[in-house]
Amino acid sequence: MSSIWSKNPYTGEKLKEYTKDTDSTITEKLKITQSVQKDWANLPITERCNLLDCVSELLLERKEEYANLITSEMGKPISQSIAEIEKCAWACDFYGYNAEDLLADEIIETDAEESFISYDPLGCILAVMPWNYPFWQVIRFAAPTLTAGNTGILKHAQNVPGCAKALEQLFLDAGYPKGCFQSILAGHEEIENLIAHKTIKAVTLTGSEKAGRGIAETAGKNLKKTVLELGGNNPCIVFEDADLDEYLETMLQARMQNTGQSCIAAKRFIVCSEIYEDFISKFIAATKNLKVGNPKDSDTYIGVLAREDLAETLKSQVDKSLEKGAKLVLGNSKDGAYFEPTILTDVVPGMPAFDEETFGPVAAIIKAHDRTHAISLANQSSYGLGAMLFTEDMEAALELIPQISDGAFFVNDMVKSDPRLPFGGTKASGYGRELSREGILEFVNKKTVYLK
Ligand code: NDP
Repeated sequence: MSSIWSKNPYTGEKLKEYTKDTDSTITEKLKITQSVQKDWANLPITERCNLLDCVSELLLERKEEYANLITSEMGKPISQSIAEIEKCAWACDFYGYNAEDLLADEIIETDAEESFISYDPLGCILAVMPWNYPFWQVIRFAAPTLTAGNTGILKHAQNVPGCAKALEQLFLDAGYPKGCFQSILAGHEEIENLIAHKTIKAVTLTGSEKAGRGIAETAGKNLKKTVLELGGNNPCIVFEDADLDEYLETMLQARMQNTGQSCIAAKRFIVCSEIYEDFISKFIAATKNLKVGNPKDSDTYIGVLAREDLAETLKSQVDKSLEKGAKLVLGNSKDGAYFEPTILTDVVPGMPAFDEETFGPVAAIIKAHDRTHAISLANQSSYGLGAMLFTEDMEAALELIPQISDGAFFVNDMVKSDPRLPFGGTKASGYGRELSREGILEFVNKKTVYLK
C-alpha cells in the first residue's frame, strides 16, 4: 500500500489520505538529517533551548487545533487532548529552562589536572511512537533529545499520520533547521532497514512488548542502543486503612483516563479483604457517573478506543477472564470501537485480566488476605512500569519501597509522568528512562575527558 487513510474511530469516517514514504524518499530524508547534524550539534545550547521555547509557545497557541486532530484520529475526549498539548508545552518549558545545566560538563576530581564528563550528541535518533498520547509521547522524546544536539526521525503509529505531519511542521514553524526533526510514514520492514542504516545511531520505542522485542532484536543485531517504554500492568494496592472518600476518584482516574489506554494506568486493583466490599460498591458507583459520549464534547470523559481491533482484543480478554471465574459487576458491551466501562471482581492470577495488559476501560479487582499478600500479588507480573499504594500508614509505605520491583512507586496518588522525574520500567515494561536528567542523558556520548 502506497498510502494510508486516517480514520475517525468514533464516527468511522475516513479523514485524509497520506502518501507513504518510499525507499527513495527515506534515503533522501536520511541525507538531509546527516547534512544538518553537525551544524545543529555545534549550535550553542542556549539557541537550541530558545527554539524549544518557541515550540512551547506554538503548542499553546495551537492547542485547540492539535487537540482536535488527536481527538479526530484516535478518539481521545477533547478535554484530555487539550491537557495533553498543555503537558507537551510543560515538558518543552522544563528542558528549555534546564537543559543547559543538565548537559553541562560534570567535573570529577581525580589525579588528573582536570577530569570531567562531557555530554555529546550521538547523531540521528529514530523514535517509534504509539497512538495513545500521539503528541506527548513524541514531545517527551524530542524535547530532550533534540536539545542535546541530536536530530530525530519519527515513525509514528499508522492510525495517527495527521499528528505525525503536524509535529514535523511544528518544529519547522518554531524555527528548527530543515532535517532536524522529520517524520516517516512507513511499514515495519522499512523501519527494520532504517534501524540498520548507518545514519541512525539509536532507537527509542514506546509501544507493546511485541514491538519492543522486534525492534530490540533488530537494533541488537546492528549494535544500536535502544530505550524501550513498553506496556504495563500496574497494580493499585489498597490497604485496609486507605481513605476511599479522599482517593477513590484518583484511583478511578488512574484506570479510566484516556479511555483506559495508558501504559501506566492502574490495571489491577489489589484490595485488602477488610475494605474489599466497600471498595467495590464505591468503585461501581463512581464508574457509573463517568460521562460517556462523543469525544468532541467537552464534558465527555470516556470516548472510544483508538481502533476497533483494540476493542475486540479487550472483549476477548474480559470474556476469557469470565470463563475462568471472574465476576462481571459492570459493563462488557462493545459497539464498534466503543467499549463500555467494565468492572471485574474475584480476579485471580491465571486470568487475562490479571496476567495481561488490558488497554481500555476495564478494572480488575483482586482480593488480598492481608498486606503481605497484596504486595506479593502486586509483584506477580511480568511487567514493572509502576505501582500505586493507597494507605494512611506512611511508615509502612516507606518500608515497602525496596519490595516494589517496578520503575515507580506512588503513594496516595496515581502513577503519572512529570518532566522533572524519571519515567520508565523494569522487566517486560522495558528499560531506559525518559524525562528529567535521566532522559536527556539517554542519547548522549558520556565522554570521559582526562587532562594531565
Ligand atoms: P504497537 O506496539 O504495535 O505499536 C506501537 C508503535 O510501534 C507503532 O508506531 C507501530 O507501528 C510500531 N511497531 C510495532 N511493531 C513494529 C515493528 N516490528 N517494527 C517497527 N515498528 C513497529 O501497538 P498496537 O497499536 O498494535 O497496540 C497493541 C497493544 O500494545 C495495546 O493494546 C497495548 O497493550 C500496547 N501498547 C502500549 C503502549 C504504551 O504506551 N506502552 C502504546 C500502544 C500500545 P504501526 O502503527 O505501523 O504498526
